[in-house]
Order: sequence, then C-alpha cells, then structure tokens
Amino acid sequence: MQNTTNQPAGGPGIFFDGQTSARQTVTVHLDASGLSIAGPDGAVLAVWPYDAIEELAWPGHVLRLGLRGPGLERLEISDPALAAAIDVKAHHVDRTGTVQRRQRGSVIGWSVAATLALVMAGYYGVPALAEKAAPLVPAGLDRRMGDAVDMQVRSSLDTRNLGEGFECGAADGEKQGRAALEKMVGRLARAAVPPMTLRVTVVRRDEPNAIALPGGQIYVFQGLIAKAVNPDEIAGVIAHEIGHVAHRDGTKAVLQASGLSFLFGMLLGDFVGGGAVVFTARKVLQSSYTREAETAADAYAAMLMNRAQGDVRALGTLLTRIGGAHEPGIRILLDHPETKARVEALNRMPQTRTIVPFLNPGEFAALKRICAGP
Ligand SMILES: [Zn+2]
Repeated sequence: MQNTTNQPAGGPGIFFDGQTSARQTVTVHLDASGLSIAGPDGAVLAVWPYDAIEELAWPGHVLRLGLRGPGLERLEISDPALAAAIDVKAHHVDRTGTVQRRQRGSVIGWSVAATLALVMAGYYGVPALAEKAAPLVPAGLDRRMGDAVDMQVRSSLDTRNLGEGFECGAADGEKQGRAALEKMVGRLARAAVPPMTLRVTVVRRDEPNAIALPGGQIYVFQGLIAKAVNPDEIAGVIAHEIGHVAHRDGTKAVLQASGLSFLFGMLLGDFVGGGAVVFTARKVLQSSYTREAETAADAYAAMLMNRAQGDVRALGTLLTRIGGAHEPGIRILLDHPETKARVEALNRMPQTRTIVPFLNPGEFAALKRICAGP
C-alpha cells in the first residue's frame, strides 16, 4: 500500500468551492503535505492537507472528498489511478502510526462499550439504551452509521427506481437550483454551533417532507420545495433537520431499530450491505420521532434561523400550509398531530436579528426548478 512509484503525481478533478454554483474543472497535484487544487489558469484554488481529507459516501465509482469541519468544498475524482494515489497518500499519513493507534484505542473502547451495552440492555431494554448511548457515539462513527444506511435509505425512498436520476440538481437546467441550495446550506452550516459538515440533497419524491440521517446527510423531498413560497421556509425545514442531526435523533433511531446488531456489526467491520442494514434502514424510515424530539428540533431550528438572520417563523408557516398532508409509511417531518401547538411554539421563539432573506428572488426561482430536468 505504501509503494508509490507507479502512482500518478496528479490528474483531473471537479471542484466545488462550497460558496457558488461553479463546478470547476481542476488539476489536482499530490504535493508533499497535501492535495493542491489548481484551476485551468494554474492558479491554486485550495490546498488540502492529507490528514484533513475525508471520503464522502457517493453512489457510483467517483471518489468524492471533503474537508473535516463545517466547510462545503467538494472534490470529485473520476480517474481510478488518481483516486488510488490519493488513497495511498491517506495511508502515508498513517505511517507515523498515530491514526492506527487512535483507531485501536477506539476499537478497544467500543468493545468495552458493547459489553456494557449488553449488560445494560438486559436491565433497561433497547429503546432506553439507545437513548443513553446515542450522545456517546463519536461524531466519526455517527457519520459511518449514516453512510452505512444511506444507500439503503436512498433505494427505499427511490420507489420509481430512478437510480442516479433520483437526485435533483445534476442536469444542466437544475444546476442553478443546486447552487442556490448550496448557498442556503452554507449559510446555515456557518451559523451552527458547533459547526458541522452537512450534505443536503433534493430528491424526487412528491410528499412535502425531509429526513436527516446520522452524521449530517439530509434529504429534502421535491414535494416540499414545491410547497414553499419563500426561501426561508425551506431553510427552516433544513434547520429543523439539522436539529435532529445535532441532537443525534437519527443515531438513536438507528440504534433502536437495529438493537445491538449494528453496534457489533460496526466493531466487526463487515456490516455494510448486510441484512441488518436493510432491516435497520427500513425501520428507521417507518419510525417517527417522539414529540419531545420534534419540539427540541423545532427549538433548535428557531435558534439557528435567528443566528443565520433567517425568518424564525417561516418553518411554522410552511408546516401550517402542509399540515395533515403526510403519507402513511414515511412519517418523518410531518408526523405530528400537534402541528398547531408546534407552530404556536415556533411563533413564540425570539427573533433578535434583522431578517435577510436566504435567497434573492432569482435564486429562489432557480431553487424551485431544481428538479426541472434538462
Ligand atoms: Zn422532525
């Protein structure tokens, strides 16, 4: 793995700066300390230290990379040789043994935790255990959990079998919408405390709904974009889903749905694609959060919207418009008979900062067309 003699020193990539629409064709160089990303004119756009790079779950063979932390920059590598070279470099960072030591320590820690979990499950039962264990799950593992159920969740949601076309924002006519979404998500991510890495994707489903997976993958349904009359309503829903991520509600749901098999599967390291994942993803989609969890996510959304200078009340307005329109089976955002109470609570939340709309009218119009096709 550490023989680099036949590896390329660089190659092509696609770079998204996380701020604008621009999908830039770049040249990636494997420098001594990190990846250097240069534009067509040779100007260096970014330098990513090897130890700060992480792989993001992505369907297909494309290697999709991001940086640890709140940033939304993305780099896509299609060339398998270059992808392999980057992979090797990531192991280079590991040569000192620090990562390996840390991982070994964490596996031992988790073995102890799993044993404890078994004993506790005997006493309290799995739901109570999941409640207690979720806040203890390290952020990295949270994300691995999300990644593990992600593909299964996608295919469960993709009932029309659209495959890669399930996701909106990739066609030429949709790219401006994608840029508007990224602008919105960037503003929310920057306002979040602590900052977090988010991946927000609009998918072709007709219900006005959204779902957050452990680790920060958020799916917003096309039907929700269709119902919104201003950008802050969509931002409010995303802020609510960020609240579920921050409160580890998805992590709790996964732990609860899977019992302990997920935890042990992770320790053994071979659970991806296994039956437990299929089962877990399905149960997570069918489950709904408690009223307390929804109230807490609403409060988080109001706080975040205020910090981001968004309209705190916009989420409530949208909830009122779509209230009662939920589909059986997928009960994620809207499974609450208490919509009225939620909206009243949202309207009592403080709005201390001046409201600056999340998008201008042109950008909002583009976002409304994010699933419009070519
Ligand atoms: Zn919710």
